[in-house]
Amino acid sequence: MQLVEMEIARQDWKSMLCGCGGSAEHLARDLLQLAGRAPEREPSHVSLEEHVWSPTVLWEPAPAVTSVALAALADDVAPTARKWFLDLLQCMVAGEGTDWESARRGLDLPELCRDIVVQGLWLLYEEVMSNRSLWAGIAFEVLTVVEPNKARLQRVREIAADWLPACCRTGLCDDDLRDLER
Ligand SMILES: [Zn+2]
Ligand SMILES: [Zn+2]
Repeated sequence: MQLVEMEIARQDWKSMLCGCGGSAEHLARDLLQLAGRAPEREPSHVSLEEHVWSPTVLWEPAPAVTSVALAALADDVAPTARKWFLDLLQCMVAGEGTDWESARRGLDLPELCRDIVVQGLWLLYEEVMSNRSLWAGIAFEVLTVVEPNKARLQRVREIAADWLPACCRTGLCDDDLRDLER
């Protein structure tokens, strides 16, 4: 068992309400499949839209999924799977709302997810710096949301300028910095 399996096994999926209206139990299988740790061994894509996230709302399993995505980055998952987990992290930190049932219990799911991602800051910097052109930009965009130290973010933006996509290089995708420059 490696990090990603450990983190998936650690979560109490059964007790969480999924966006599809059922128990979140199926997410354990879906995440193993994404990571390529299901019996097939090959990562294969599963969309968690309408289960964990939607363009407007996150559902109860979102913080657990965020932890699993960070564990996957720390693990040696295949490049395709790495990109899928970064995509997931981006959906988690970009979340704007909390599902009604969780909100009623006083939870702010986007904030909880961002707090978890901050704990994995250096994993994201590693993804940016390892010059994997396909997803350095995704990792950087997650950092623009969660990194409290904007000076450090700016420094990395300059160092990684050769391989970051134009939107990250210019700060087009970075609301906070645009605000600072005003
Ligand atoms: Zn579901
Ligand atoms: Zn960008």
